[in-house]
Amino acid sequence: MTDDLNALVSALPDGHVITDPDIVESYRRDQTAVAAPGRPLCVVAARATDEVAETMRWASKHSVPVVPRGGGTSLAGGAAAIDGCVVLSLARMDQILELDPANELAVAEAGVLNANLDRAAAAHGLMYAPDPSSYEISTIGGNLATNAGGLRCVKYGVTRDATLGLEVVLADGRVLPTGRRTVKGVAGYDLTSLFVGSEGTLGVITSATLRLRPRPSVPPVTLAASFPSFAMAAQAVTAILRARLQPSLLELLDRATLRAIDAWKHLGFGDSVQALLIAQDDSDDSVGRAGIMRDICTGHGALLADVSESEAESQQLLDIRRLSYPAIERLGVTLVEDVCVPRSRLPEMIGCIELAAERHGVLIATVAHAGDGNLHPVFVFDRGLAEGDVPPSVWAAADEVFRAALDMGGTLTGEHGVGLIKRRWLALELGENSMDVHRAIKGALDPAGILNPGKGF
Ligand SMILES: Cc1cc2nc3c(=O)[nH]c(=O)nc-3n(C[C@H](O)[C@H](O)[C@H](O)COP(=O)(O)OP(=O)(O)OC[C@H]3O[C@@H](n4cnc5c(N)ncnc54)[C@H](O)[C@@H]3O)c2cc1C
Repeated sequence: MTDDLNALVSALPDGHVITDPDIVESYRRDQTAVAAPGRPLCVVAARATDEVAETMRWASKHSVPVVPRGGGTSLAGGAAAIDGCVVLSLARMDQILELDPANELAVAEAGVLNANLDRAAAAHGLMYAPDPSSYEISTIGGNLATNAGGLRCVKYGVTRDATLGLEVVLADGRVLPTGRRTVKGVAGYDLTSLFVGSEGTLGVITSATLRLRPRPSVPPVTLAASFPSFAMAAQAVTAILRARLQPSLLELLDRATLRAIDAWKHLGFGDSVQALLIAQDDSDDSVGRAGIMRDICTGHGALLADVSESEAESQQLLDIRRLSYPAIERLGVTLVEDVCVPRSRLPEMIGCIELAAERHGVLIATVAHAGDGNLHPVFVFDRGLAEGDVPPSVWAAADEVFRAALDMGGTLTGEHGVGLIKRRWLALELGENSMDVHRAIKGALDPAGILNPGKGF
């Protein structure tokens, strides 16, 4: 261990700086199969804001890169280690500091798991609405740093919409409070929004003041409708949105995803089923509204359209959606993409993905938060390549998909972030002036470039 590292070890409580090679190894990767991680110098498992501040002061002094880390569930390589970095884990800062039912807010440390905050809110008849599919394993800090979306954000908005204020440790170790705990507030620039979605490149979020919402009084009713083509299913989505029904969840699974689920769980979708739409309504008239959605699906050529009749059945239908990623992962190495287009362009975007798959001979299984126009085309390729290696045909197909989304007025990433793997396309979306502003902001907050270098921007 170098003298420099010794200084950090002695500044923090015993055991909070980890150099054991086996443990350090377990912090190198996130969930991005195509990111080749570097080798960290050490892991800091912080328990308090002043430990994060101490770490940042030390890293600034010694110009050591820092990779903030929550649950390590990033699908964009955002939490992948960099050679010689400190992996700064917030996972043990996992206390809900305050739950205030009167003001419908909570103050949570960065390491609180998303689902734990929602469960704590539920005890007061409230909910924490943003619910990424990784809700049981991803942290509030990681959700904030990626502005995570989720299944019910079609009705309730994304993480930024639920964020009132933050506590952030800056690159030089200063502690910056942002935002407020009031319903309104316009004093100063909106620094809270700046840090939400900044992918650990501008500061380390240590806690957040988060907005809670009244929890629906009845369990949601779920609709599942199968279609003979993805385009028809996408048209049904557009019709549901046009009918202003405000579903609390509106998801689409394509044929390749359904085949992957069938191969694993033998649900018997049959060859004629090319797409499955899953929708939920959690309003007081959930049965009536789910019925209207079912009729819309039938009118748009659904082969079958079923509305759940019990909470257990509702859960079973939703579980089909939750099986998607593990089922696709059984097929090979995956590159999980995340384009988002204006919702009316969804059918067109599906067409572009299918064309790119065909043209480049690549298997793409697509799952979509269809109500948001957010598609996750998952590119699947053979195991056996070196870590981080992606076949050129996959990148060529991904490039085509990204450009098509941008041409439609969409974005490269709806919720996973730019991370390590989409940086080379970022300027295409932002343009030079925006890139300049980004550089100026990064330079002002992290002049030595130690915060998650090579990620996001
Ligand atoms: C099965 C599965 C399903 C998923 N479903 C969804 C989904 O529905 N919606 C969605 O949006 N995402 C989804 N994701 C992606 C991922 O879960 C989210 O990006 C999540 O917000 C990451 O949280 P985390 O705690 O795991 O963060 P990490 O993966 O540890 O980090 C993510 C990024 O945030 C930074 N970061 C982490 N903590 C902090 C902090 N305290 N301060 C500053 N920066 C920090 C990291 O440096 C990194 O850039 C899914 C992932 C998986 C594996």
